Amino acid sequence: MVRVTLAGPELGGLAVEQPAASVRLLLPVPRGQGLVVPRWNGNEFLLPDGGRPTIRTFTPRRLDPRTLELDVDVVVHGAGPASVWAETAGPGDEAAVSGPGRGYVVDQRAPAFLLAGDETAIPAISQLLEVLPHDAHVDVHIEAAQPEAALPLPHHPAAAVHWWNLPPGAPAGETLRVAVRAADVEPGTRVWVAGEAAAVQRIRRHLFDERGLARSDATVRGYWKSGRTGDDEDDSQ
Ligand SMILES: Cc1cc2nc3c(=O)[nH]c(=O)nc-3n(C[C@H](O)[C@H](O)[C@H](O)COP(=O)(O)OP(=O)(O)OC[C@H]3O[C@@H](n4cnc5c(N)ncnc54)[C@H](O)[C@@H]3O)c2cc1C
Repeated sequence: MVRVTLAGPELGGLAVEQPAASVRLLLPVPRGQGLVVPRWNGNEFLLPDGGRPTIRTFTPRRLDPRTLELDVDVVVHGAGPASVWAETAGPGDEAAVSGPGRGYVVDQRAPAFLLAGDETAIPAISQLLEVLPHDAHVDVHIEAAQPEAALPLPHHPAAAVHWWNLPPGAPAGETLRVAVRAADVEPGTRVWVAGEAAAVQRIRRHLFDERGLARSDATVRGYWKSGRTGDDEDDSQ
């Protein structure tokens, strides 16, 4: 995972008020050709040559309105343009930011929280750990394909953090699925899950269909799709 800091007066006015929100980044692809801002054709954003812009979604991990800096923590997974951009971007390189997209509304009265996600969810889970009530028990499950590259989590006094290493070749989300199935979910617990879309869909079915959790008690978000580029969001509350 690589932390990229974006900075500039253009960030003035950007306000992120909820944890686990999102921003969309327009990336210069191919790199070195400068940033071309797409136009809305009434249906979609397109570049002047008719091509589709490279836009990816990230968690605004830290926004400092004083210095006008925005940190995003990007999983370096190989081939994707955002992954390559995060590894190679340097001072002066441009990207455009839009947002924020909606985040998570914390129920301050909930007695317990279950947070589960893969590495792409670490920035959002970190923000949740920073704001969840200190007297609420927080059970955290994180699946890491590259445990050595994960950034440390903030401290929460009543959190139990479990790291699960995804074995090479195993489908994304496999250890999370097992961990969530085995977790104690006491009545009143609020659940937040994010990761690979098909994996979180299985977790969603388990929570709602097998455990009978109320839909209002759980937020399950697909953050990326195995085998698919782009950032199709797959949301359900
Ligand atoms: C609300 C929201 C918040 C998000 N926050 C973050 C964040 O803070 N940090 C972060 O890193 N990601 C985050 N993501 C996920 C990120 O948008 C996707 O992983 C995105 O696809 C990465 O773009 P890319 O250009 O690197 O890869 P793409 O071009 O989109 O995909 C190329 C190939 O890589 C695969 N792929 C994509 N992402 C991963 C991955 N993480 N691991 C393994 N294979 C992958 C795809 O399936 C595809 O086969 C978030 C997504 C959402 C919807």
